[in-house]
Amino acid sequence: AKSTRGNQYRLYRPNMEEANDKWLLLETKLHQALKKDILELHYQPKIDLKTDKVIGMEALLRWYDPELGQMPPDRFIPFAEECGLINDIGVWVLRKASAQARAWNESYHLNLRVAVNISPIHISTTGFVDMVRDVIAETGINPHLLEIEITEMSMLDYTEDLIDTIKQLRALGITISLDDFGTGYSSLNYLKKFPVDVLKIDRAFVRDIVPEKSGIAMISAMISLAHALNLEVVAEGVEEEAELKVLREQGCEYVQGYYFSKPLSVEDFTKLIDESVSV
Ligand code: C2E
Ligand code: CA
Ligand code: CA
Ligand code: CA
Repeated sequence: AKSTRGNQYRLYRPNMEEANDKWLLLETKLHQALKKDILELHYQPKIDLKTDKVIGMEALLRWYDPELGQMPPDRFIPFAEECGLINDIGVWVLRKASAQARAWNESYHLNLRVAVNISPIHISTTGFVDMVRDVIAETGINPHLLEIEITEMSMLDYTEDLIDTIKQLRALGITISLDDFGTGYSSLNYLKKFPVDVLKIDRAFVRDIVPEKSGIAMISAMISLAHALNLEVVAEGVEEEAELKVLREQGCEYVQGYYFSKPLSVEDFTKLIDESVSV
């Protein structure tokens, strides 16, 4: 029995070491990227359907590594959550996005609201609210122009402490939105308990608006639900005119998506506001 185990050990060891090496390399690289300010934020405009104007933007992380290439956030964010880098990344994003939003608002006399994605792990950390308060003081951003997006998954194993944190953030003037709405397993009961301001309808539902007939019914029900709970609605991933038309008809307040604009670099977003201000 002993020799068999020995064989198995030898059989599995190389693979495990390889996996460990990859993990370590990725962790080191991500750590470096954060420290050396190699991470970047792109900004996707949010459009107000009442005026068809840009009312704000969502900050989205971009990480380009010369060896690994463009790393999609869908992959490295879960990794950062596992290896413990997510809190530092969250602070960096919050600081960077707040400073950038304040700079844009000041130079163009605008009131754009910037949204940042915060991991449920990070927001549940002790001291999160104090950190946010510090960032607000340090960057001078008007807290009413700051929004935090947390995923619906956050509600899954929520605690009273999380609800308390959200209440404190809202007391500072910050807007809280529930991201990826409809994709989790949350019950309506959770939604009632969660003190949020905005529901972000996940792209999966927007994509289904056309051509499935039931798609309109779903969207319509989600928007009605949000409005019944006094929440505003953002639809994400709007790519087509036909989707937009339905969203308008159903009374959705805000949209985001390639139909209007992809997430833009700081330079390109600046051009966008430059053009819209000078018209
Ligand atoms: P999310 O928060 O749901 O962000 C929306 C994603 O949809 C973004 O992908 C955006 O580029 C993409 N998108 C926007 N409009 C369209 C459209 O019309 N069509 C299609 N097909 N896609 C569209 P991205 O930037 O790759 O980010 C993926 C996810 O990574 C985000 O999903 C979010 O969960 C996470 N993420 C990104 N940045 C951060 C961050 O700073 N912190 C945290 N914790 N997570 C982040
Ligand atoms: Ca988001
Ligand atoms: Ca989303
Ligand atoms: Ca998502």
